[in-house]
Amino acid sequence: MITKPSELTGSEYIKEEGLTCQLDTGIDNIFDTEEGRKILSCIQCGTCVGTCPYGEHMEYPPRRIIRMLRGGMIDEIFTTDSLLKCVACYACMVKCPRGIRLSDVLLPIVKEQTLANLKQIPAELQSSLQNTLRYGNPMGESSRRRVNWIKSSPSPVPVMSEIKRPVDVLWFVECYTSYYSRGQDNSKALARLMNALGIDFAVLGNEEKCAGDCGQLTWESGLFETLTDYNMEIFRKYKFNRIITGDTHAFNAFRIRYPLYGFDYKVEHTTPFIARYLDQLKPKLKKKLDYTVTYHDACCLGRRAGFYEEGRELLKAIPGVNLVEMTHNRTNSICCGGGGGGMWLDTYFKEKGMERLSERRIKEAIATGADVLAVSCPYEIYRFEDALKTVDHDKPMIVRDVVELLAESLEETDDER
Ligand code: SF4
Ligand code: SF4
Repeated sequence: MITKPSELTGSEYIKEEGLTCQLDTGIDNIFDTEEGRKILSCIQCGTCVGTCPYGEHMEYPPRRIIRMLRGGMIDEIFTTDSLLKCVACYACMVKCPRGIRLSDVLLPIVKEQTLANLKQIPAELQSSLQNTLRYGNPMGESSRRRVNWIKSSPSPVPVMSEIKRPVDVLWFVECYTSYYSRGQDNSKALARLMNALGIDFAVLGNEEKCAGDCGQLTWESGLFETLTDYNMEIFRKYKFNRIITGDTHAFNAFRIRYPLYGFDYKVEHTTPFIARYLDQLKPKLKKKLDYTVTYHDACCLGRRAGFYEEGRELLKAIPGVNLVEMTHNRTNSICCGGGGGGMWLDTYFKEKGMERLSERRIKEAIATGADVLAVSCPYEIYRFEDALKTVDHDKPMIVRDVVELLAESLEETDDER
């Protein structure tokens, strides 16, 4: 069911994964689709509940949702906030012995209805959704400032509207990596790497807007469609061979949601994309980094797309890096808690007495004795750096994206000297 997408276009993904279910199917019509009917094959084994990081806090975890749905009592679920606690981590979906596409199909539909029935949407989530609709990013930043980070990038970053020619790679930068200074470090590192590798790339600059994955998974389908329509129109203005993005949520959106709206481009996440250049990159990684590093598997990149080894291979290529594993890794990795709108629900979760998943995960990273927690998603930098402030640790630890560590090890070019 889960495929590696490197060389597939949008329509090929749909075919490969059998994504026939239109995701705007309402709960009343869910059994009209093949994917929906598959839900009826649930054997009530409870694996989904056992594997869910917030299962114990949900009055209605996936297994009970299915039981209520079969019994015609689904409306009762919408009166609770159970699905607001789903961080779209895909753990239940990959473990389900019946292959029920829980996180792709059932849970978002239930979540949409849950949100529609809530008397009050948690404030942080509400403002991020409103900001995304109004400004094209959840932080409420001006769209005119989206491109500003490029001015301080030591490596050139061409903008499509300025270069006026086709490129090989269209880099979709996304919101955190455009606006937040820590995210901008990540973007500058990737720009440096791509320049060093001689990749022909450009960005959309101020024309780009949030890809909308979290809008979709917190199930604001109207907002998601607005963003999809907008971004698709911008893509159609330019010629390029593939889209890359370092944001695993945007990658997820382009890979499994946009194709349902006619998106037909090849899309890659930057970690596996750069890993394809490993032979070319290795001789350029000259600076020894004496770090013990542990790698966190992002849910959308690992469990959802099957890219577990590429980040590890890149890290192992850096001279001096000693890679160690956390107790939960690859398929069993613990979510950072940022997906499905979780990024804006920390206060809400705290009020409910729920442990932040980023703190649960950082404790595992600390237990390895590593100096560096390496990630492959800008959300995770933010979440884990924040968690490090609240969790006790004797030895210092830093959080770095894989591309940042690669750029740190890269030999200096003549221009940079
Ligand atoms: S893991 Fe799958 S089969 Fe088992 S209870 Fe959950 S949905 Fe049903
Ligand atoms: S996607 Fe993750 S958080 Fe959501 S119900 Fe499944 S296991 Fe729980």
